[in-house]
Amino acid sequence: EASSSDDFQTLLSWADKHRRLKVRANAETPEDAAKALELGAEGIGLCRTEHMFFEADRIDQMRGMILAANREERQHYLDQLLTYQEEDMLALFRVMNGLPVTVRLLDPPLHEFLPHTEDDMAALSQRIGKPVAAIREMTESLQEVNPMLGFRGCRLSIVYPEITEMQVKAIISAAVRATEEGLRPHPEIMIPLVVNVREIRLISKIIDRGIQAVMQEKHVSIPYKIGTMMETPRATLGADRLAAEVEFMSFGTNDLTQMTYGFSRDDVGKFLPQYLEKKLVEQDPFVSLDTRAVGRLMEIAVTESRARKPGIKYGICGEHGGDPLSIQFCHDLGLDYVSCSPFRVPVARIAAAQAKVRREQDS
Ligand code: PEP
Ligand code: MG
Repeated sequence: EASSSDDFQTLLSWADKHRRLKVRANAETPEDAAKALELGAEGIGLCRTEHMFFEADRIDQMRGMILAANREERQHYLDQLLTYQEEDMLALFRVMNGLPVTVRLLDPPLHEFLPHTEDDMAALSQRIGKPVAAIREMTESLQEVNPMLGFRGCRLSIVYPEITEMQVKAIISAAVRATEEGLRPHPEIMIPLVVNVREIRLISKIIDRGIQAVMQEKHVSIPYKIGTMMETPRATLGADRLAAEVEFMSFGTNDLTQMTYGFSRDDVGKFLPQYLEKKLVEQDPFVSLDTRAVGRLMEIAVTESRARKPGIKYGICGEHGGDPLSIQFCHDLGLDYVSCSPFRVPVARIAAAQAKVRREQDS
């Protein structure tokens, strides 16, 4: 037992000496972040902030905010949400001291936060003092035929800039507190589901305003980066223009695969087994990058954006970031890091080293 685990540690230290790709983890709780660190992660490549609002009182505050009748009411809930977000971020910065933490702005369709059964609506009505009818009406009005192609990602920031402002203030306030504790937080704010450069310009203004407000109030300066997810085909095909506005790009290959194939990532179980059995696809494209399609879009994006802005950083944070075959592709493409679930970090470290060694042998 002990010796096989020693052998594994030896293998990992060999891998770390040889790889070029950095390995980060997708995590949003301090527990997962600590696990990721233990397994060798060199930062958080994706913190899905929506996961931080699904529990207990947080979700009620979120629901209150969505259901608010006016600006003041909404602000009341946003203030509560900011407190939660700030505490959660501080906890993450403490664990990840000195390492980058990529925080993605809220991504899911808002209706995912709302209750859908009559019982849940009645219970919520009691807790936040809104009539059931109002809750039902809002829930219905946010229903979408194709939510994954609907009102999510940065589209939320466009319609509700105050949510983005809340998140950014919370992230930077947490970074200020971490700094006061003698830590070195490295927040990287990431915009989800971007389609074009105008979205980034508009949202960056909201982000910068939030950041400046906090830094001026606290009289400190926090180093931060703003970047974009690359998860729509439109974004990859306009990457040169996006590059001018951001410091990093992270490929969200879950959505990029879904949109490239037109296969709903939530419904593949219904048809993909047949596709695999009949060899209509070589492999599950949600597991291993389809280098001829999704990979080509990534290649176009990297080539064209790098020509525009040579110093830009690239990562991948879709599930493929932990898949050895996909990691080879990411190495070849010259990405800076892969980010995957904490438990896949050791395999990713080894795969990253193998990817480099393989290419050295080829040349
Ligand atoms: C992705 O789409 O690849 C991604 C990382 O974002 P999410 O899985 O949260 O949609
Ligand atoms: Mg996505």
